[in-house]
Amino acid sequence: MEKMEKMIAYCGLVCTECPAYIATQADDREQLVKVAAQWSVEYDATLTADDCVCDGCLATTDRHIGHWDECKIRVCASDKKVRNCAHCTDYPCSELKGLFSFAPHAQAALDQIRQNL
Ligand code: SF4
Ligand code: SF4
Repeated sequence: MEKMEKMIAYCGLVCTECPAYIATQADDREQLVKVAAQWSVEYDATLTADDCVCDGCLATTDRHIGHWDECKIRVCASDKKVRNCAHCTDYPCSELKGLFSFAPHAQAALDQIRQNL
């Protein structure tokens, strides 16, 4: 099997390790239904399998997770034309700290990138 290159979103989440991304790339409808059911409970939302179809935050395709459109972090980093938030002079801003509070692995990924800048 071909090795998948690691894709890190602006916020530090690792898209290539996300179950929605993995199920989308494998074209695995059954798994997308499972992800939608699991996240609907976890995030107190009503998600369908189609809502979970995603090619990753940085993908230029039109297949992105529902929240992508309005994500303030994505819009901000994209406007600033930074590769990801680790490259931003305002790192870590309050918006990003909010995400880090429930996704510490995103902070760890960006901190690691910053160590190597
Ligand atoms: S849409 Fe926002 S929260 Fe989701 S991966 Fe992209 S930057 Fe992170
Ligand atoms: S201000 Fe910087 S760290 Fe905060 S979301 Fe925008 S690009 Fe990311």
